Amino acid sequence: MTFQLPPLPYAENALEPMISAQTLSFHYGKHHKAYVDNLNKLKEGTPFADAGLEEIIEKAEGGLYNNAAQVWNHTFYWNCLSPQGGGEPTGELLEAICGKWSSFEDFKKAFSAAAAGLFGSGWVWLAEGEDGLEIIATPNAGNPIRDGKEPLLVIDVWEHAYYLDKQNRRPDYIADFWKLVDWPGVCDRYMED
Ligand code: MN
Repeated sequence: MTFQLPPLPYAENALEPMISAQTLSFHYGKHHKAYVDNLNKLKEGTPFADAGLEEIIEKAEGGLYNNAAQVWNHTFYWNCLSPQGGGEPTGELLEAICGKWSSFEDFKKAFSAAAAGLFGSGWVWLAEGEDGLEIIATPNAGNPIRDGKEPLLVIDVWEHAYYLDKQNRRPDYIADFWKLVDWPGVCDRYMED
């Protein structure tokens, strides 16, 4: 089985002006593609040669884990964003967020602080674990699936996600991220079993 680079769910210029077509061209077309290519090379001849992506993320180590998780994380990240994104969650997810962080604004502050404060490269997640909703900061290729938690939302804070548009200004990238979040999709994931 050969993993394929999944299609981007919108045009490369669809997230402008928050994320430029140039950034998406490199981030999707070069970085994400390289993780797919590396994963296909690294899994050959290992016990994971015919494994699914989530099984590799759950069980593999080293470069194989890193590339598998980066493939999954990027596909998930693209699907967390939408040209029609922004605003707030609704329904049971909004209630759960307000139950945990008092208000949606307080949740945004906590998530933004985690994203701004993650040292080096990584990902910041809203995930659902046994104790409910959590903000989880994972360095490098981290993924909450590894710990049995369900990802609901993610921001990529690797510099390649924002450097062409924002240079070192990660907080500006985080502020623009909120204008793109596909909350209906996040709510749907929360409502799934
Ligand atoms: Mn990335």
